[in-house]
Amino acid sequence: MSEKIPYKIYLTESEMPKQWYNIRAHMNNKPAPILNPQTLKPITVDELSEIFCRELAIQELDETNAYIDIPKEIQDFYKMYRPSPLTRAYCLEKALGTPAKIYYKFEGNNTSGSHKLNSAIAQAYYAKQQGLKGVTTETGAGQWGTALSMACAYLDLDCQVYMVKVSYEQKPFRREVMRTFGASVTPSPSMTTNVGKKINREFPGTSGSLGCAISEAVEAAAAQEGYRYVLGSVLSQVLIHQTIIGLETKIALDKYNVKPDIIIGCAGGGSNLGGLISPFAGEKILGKEDYRIIAVEPASCPSLTRGRYAYDYCDTGKVCPLAKMYTLGSGFIPSSSHSGGLRYHGMSSIVSQLYDDGIIEATSVEQTSVFAAATQFARVEGILPAPESSHAIKVAIDEALKCKETGEEKTIVFGLTGTGYFDMVAYQRFNDGDMSDYIPTDEELEKGFATLPKVE
Ligand SMILES: *Cc1c(COP(=O)(O)O)cnc(C)c1O
Repeated sequence: MSEKIPYKIYLTESEMPKQWYNIRAHMNNKPAPILNPQTLKPITVDELSEIFCRELAIQELDETNAYIDIPKEIQDFYKMYRPSPLTRAYCLEKALGTPAKIYYKFEGNNTSGSHKLNSAIAQAYYAKQQGLKGVTTETGAGQWGTALSMACAYLDLDCQVYMVKVSYEQKPFRREVMRTFGASVTPSPSMTTNVGKKINREFPGTSGSLGCAISEAVEAAAAQEGYRYVLGSVLSQVLIHQTIIGLETKIALDKYNVKPDIIIGCAGGGSNLGGLISPFAGEKILGKEDYRIIAVEPASCPSLTRGRYAYDYCDTGKVCPLAKMYTLGSGFIPSSSHSGGLRYHGMSSIVSQLYDDGIIEATSVEQTSVFAAATQFARVEGILPAPESSHAIKVAIDEALKCKETGEEKTIVFGLTGTGYFDMVAYQRFNDGDMSDYIPTDEELEKGFATLPKVE
């Protein structure tokens, strides 16, 4: 017990989790059912299987099984880049002069550069099992598309990515990584789908949006025999796959008898946060342990801290099921001065319910302070963090500095979701002093809320 904790705590292969955790089974208040967008009735597995693979549709609606076996083939794939290290941030602690003990779980150790591969391989695996030919998806910044193209290459599945046109043009290297792994990448809006043609006609020269790319990907899947659509966050199935992060973290901490006081994650659609915190939040719900759990979101896209808890569309095209979630409205458009990811209008229904029940708390941070924290972290810990991940870094540093004032030796764990090599334009803006902060006014948020569907 007095043994010094190493800089990096690794698990052996045999210590790695063999099941994912489905926290819904332990939640007293389950998330509200997701609804069929046509009938507005709770969607069934059969209906959901028209969009997603059947096994994934089952996982999406499963609120009774706490543990779901990770198929052997996925376990083997995980072994190529997992377990991911849980690092004790000794160097950061020293630089801050804090008595706090800081740990971070780093998910950037794979070519996609983020945690997204954890779910991409699972979704591709079930598609392959079902005998499908391929999958379609959208990508904004490109991490999800990259992760999915890696998983599809491994399983020999066709992968069609609709990439928001502005990213397609501004992030040519992400695009080439996807193509190198065999994916076809189409700038969206394209002329290959009806939705794309319509949008191009109505808004000539548009640089595209995530909402439009989703609608194109869904249409493309429906139009081709043997294809399904897959999504990289928000859905409960994705959150389940991402629990590999939290389960590994828990096993590693238990090895050294470390109990965290505070657990921090960045929140875009909520899957990485939900995955990191699920095992801890589960213990909290079951009355076994107590933790402070903090979701961090950008002040420019504040779905938890300023959004409404309501049924909303998951996509702008309104083809996906409706979910009850903290949301800014599917018509909310984040400011173009916002550089990182985490732009999604809504939040995972599981994370939303945990927040509504007070199991987790949420805070928002402004982007210049996020990049300042990213830079500080990079210089002492030697990892160039993704802007998304740096939201968690910012709050971890703030909490560690509070400990410095009070002298408390709290243990802080945060999720470092990925690397920022493809975000150098944003870093450049920060380094040049050209980055600004943007906080939407209440009036601007009202415009988004006005797009909420009338359900209930
Ligand atoms: C996609 C992404 C996020 C956001 O993850 P969610 O699970 O949607 O909250 C955070 N960090 C990185 C590096 C990402 O690529």
